[in-house]
Amino acid sequence: MALEPMAIGVMLGVGESPEESLQKVLDVGVRCAQMGRPPDAWLKPAKAAELKKMIKKAGITITTVFCGFDGERYDDIPTVQQTVGFVPKATRAARLKKARQIADFAKVLGVKNVAAHVGFVPEDHTTREYKEIVRAVGSFADYLKKNGQNLCLETGQETGECLLRFIQDLKRSNVKVNFDPANMILYGSGEPIPALKLVGKYVAGVHCKDGTWPTEKDKLGTEVPLGKGKVNIPRFVQTLADLGYRGPLTIEREITGDQQRKDIVKARKLLERVRAKVLGKA
Ligand code: MG
Repeated sequence: MALEPMAIGVMLGVGESPEESLQKVLDVGVRCAQMGRPPDAWLKPAKAAELKKMIKKAGITITTVFCGFDGERYDDIPTVQQTVGFVPKATRAARLKKARQIADFAKVLGVKNVAAHVGFVPEDHTTREYKEIVRAVGSFADYLKKNGQNLCLETGQETGECLLRFIQDLKRSNVKVNFDPANMILYGSGEPIPALKLVGKYVAGVHCKDGTWPTEKDKLGTEVPLGKGKVNIPRFVQTLADLGYRGPLTIEREITGDQQRKDIVKARKLLERVRAKVLGKA
């Protein structure tokens, strides 16, 4: 199903009950979603094929599948550095293996974009550690290439300059960006809109999320409802349009329960207004 330009979507966690998760997408009034890593049982090809049918029946388009790994924690910046993505050495090989399984799961669903938080990429690109991370992430990108898929790097834990350098060092045509402007604020990695312009040509997906800057050393800032934080959502969407981006605008609200649903519905309405203005002008 072809999506409209800047189709509004939502980040979908797949819990134990995919039917419930798919219903949550429909409940907020959207038809496209990015999907978090499902429980292991659903990664098996037969279960993935079953899920594909459910998604089709619900009339939903999955635009991206996200990798996530056991043991990842986002409590504060040192914890993220030690636990997230492909950066921690002790879990790297096992996580690459899991990432390949998630890629194959996405392939069964017919999803071309696979996204991941790499973790904190070291700022110093001359270190052996940095080169090892480039090699590891590059090997995953090569695997995805054989599947006909892209690797979308979730932004936020590094500056725009560091991310651009990392992409250039990876030297793979299927390495793209899933740009999350709020993460840059939450991690204190710099103003998101200049960073977006820097990596603009690589952007294959975005998260529409908002946040406020950290106020204490080593602590993350606070994620807030869309439009209530420091991103400047109208300017963010306008900048995407100016860069020629017409892909999905995926709302991410990292809370749970009924408040999450309410905040997502408000975010959808905000994005509908902003998009009408931006695309009307284009
Ligand atoms: Mg995000």
